[in-house]
Amino acid sequence: MRRRRRTPEAERHTAIHEAAHVVVSIRKKRRFISVTLEPTEEDQGCVLYRKLPMHRVGQDVERGLAAERAIEDSVVSSLAGGIAERRAARSDGVRLGRGTATADEAKAKEMLSWLSDDDRQIDAHYRLCRVRAEELVSVNWPAILALADALLSERTMGYRRAREFVSSLPLPRPGDLGEEPTGVCVAASGGGPDDMTQVERHDTGHL
Ligand SMILES: [Zn+2]
Repeated sequence: MRRRRRTPEAERHTAIHEAAHVVVSIRKKRRFISVTLEPTEEDQGCVLYRKLPMHRVGQDVERGLAAERAIEDSVVSSLAGGIAERRAARSDGVRLGRGTATADEAKAKEMLSWLSDDDRQIDAHYRLCRVRAEELVSVNWPAILALADALLSERTMGYRRAREFVSSLPLPRPGDLGEEPTGVCVAASGGGPDDMTQVERHDTGHL
């Protein structure tokens, strides 16, 4: 077992990383199973999601669009973890290793490649999702910090508990970004179908 020793500060950054996945997922109405800070052999913490129903893509236009939106939402919530972790580390004056969130980023690119074979299109789509994730992390920053603190004491939260906690916090207000709200992604999209059974992990790589 290669479990790294964690300082309280590193653990807080992990909590912020996982909290960002969770808050953005909840804002996007994307269900997950649970979030935990309990380290495993591979992860310092993780959010368990049901796997996206990829077999549905392309079956018909409506399902294709719903699947595309579900993929975008997953990519945005994936990218939010590393963005939030880096933001927290920066404000604490800590340099994170290059490996931070690489698994999340690779997963995000893989998911976008399900929608297109064209590398330039995938890249553009990735950058768009990244901008959305950055906006969502900024606008939800107080909620992310509050959830991270709760996670540090509760360690593990099921979807309902996390949603209840996040719902009890004030919603971001226009102007929280310090500029005109874009409204691009605060609006939620529908959740995925219910027959998703496999589990997808979002890990944290804190060095
Ligand atoms: Zn992650």
